Amino acid sequence: LPVVAVVGRPNVGKSTLVNRILGRREAVVEDVPGVTRDRVSYSAEWTGHPFTVTDTGGWEPDAKGMGRSIAVQAELAMRAADVIVVVVDATVGATSADEAVSRILRRSTVPVLLAANKVDSERAEADAAVLWSLGLGEPHTISAAHGRGTADLLDLIVAALPEKPRERFAPGGPRRVALVGKPNVGKSSLLNKLVGEERSVVDNVAGTTVDPVDELIELGGKSWHFVDTAGLRRKVRSATGHEYYASLRTRAALESAEVALLLIDASQPITEQDLRVLSMIVDSGRALVVVFNKWDLVDEDRRERLDKEIDRELERVPWARRVNISATTGRSVQKLVPAMEGALESWDRRVSTGQLNSWLKDIIAATPPPVRGGRQPRVKFATQAATRPPTFVLFTTGFLEAGYRRFLERKLRESFGFEGSPVRVNVRVRD
Ligand code: GDP
Repeated sequence: LPVVAVVGRPNVGKSTLVNRILGRREAVVEDVPGVTRDRVSYSAEWTGHPFTVTDTGGWEPDAKGMGRSIAVQAELAMRAADVIVVVVDATVGATSADEAVSRILRRSTVPVLLAANKVDSERAEADAAVLWSLGLGEPHTISAAHGRGTADLLDLIVAALPEKPRERFAPGGPRRVALVGKPNVGKSSLLNKLVGEERSVVDNVAGTTVDPVDELIELGGKSWHFVDTAGLRRKVRSATGHEYYASLRTRAALESAEVALLLIDASQPITEQDLRVLSMIVDSGRALVVVFNKWDLVDEDRRERLDKEIDRELERVPWARRVNISATTGRSVQKLVPAMEGALESWDRRVSTGQLNSWLKDIIAATPPPVRGGRQPRVKFATQAATRPPTFVLFTTGFLEAGYRRFLERKLRESFGFEGSPVRVNVRVRD
């Protein structure tokens, strides 16, 4: 579905507008100062046009962190949304934070609608005129709380929706890489190493647009599109909200990447923070290469411990490719390219319906699904509904136990590989 992102500084009424769009009376989440909330998406519809609404707000940054927080929101929206609604409080006018977000959004290649909120009466409409100064076109006056003007805004949103959600990854272009990991694992060191050894391609490769925050790097004779390298070069040091900011940034990078390089400091125990980044990658459905960095500091003893940690902590991603490197010495850095290529090959792969169903028949004959409630569910048919990541749909008569689904997924991997890529298996019950 096409995505509509609602952005703006805290307390301008984003959540209220989202609720209004969803046709709900109660607030999804109140604008409580200090509440840490991640981006949330909801399904919506207006005049028969379905779309997804994303509320990017929720974090109350301090005055210093504010500009950064909404800058990330705006970048995220420009990467992922098909229409952006920027909400401003018309009773306050244009603040410097509003100006900052507008400056970024003026670069947007997707439609941006300016909603001037809290205009509760006709008389207040004149106040909104000053918002023309934001350079985002006409301020559309609304009162999200009372519903004033929101139907007109929804008409505009629907009119701006594309026929099809935009193609995120242009086929044939450089593959898109997100270099992610908790602070100090060596992301910037690796980036510098890659750029230093090879060549950072400054000019645009034909047919690709490279965001100013991204970088094309030539590796192994090919261009690779590293997303949000600016975020790695400009190190952010801010006491409050640092983690939240970093996680938004990671999410944004994953959103526009095809393969994730998860950096882990091999010389230190694997931590919760590493696993949180891993969870984000798994949720994103991107191909994955786990990179153990600082290998120059790993001795025999540490190596044994690490093996145990890997068994325990990385058990959810037994399929991930692993590479041990040292960003400072350059050791094994050249192994990253084949690992990424292999992971992407799996991520892109399609198994024919014929192959899939003859495989399914054999598996089921050997190990039929367990009987549930005196009934033997039958798996009738399988199809690969999508690639990137490979997504399979099983049509069954009756419910399949989670254990059996995992068994099928494991068998699917054993038979067809998919190393480096997540695989999704959905079940549709049809009697
Ligand atoms: P980032 O926060 O993930 O970008 O991490 P940095 O690249 O800033 O690295 C954090 C620290 O680890 C710096 O002091 C680096 O010099 C050091 N470092 C990075 N990679 C390696 C490595 O492979 N070996 C060693 N010994 N130190 C490293």
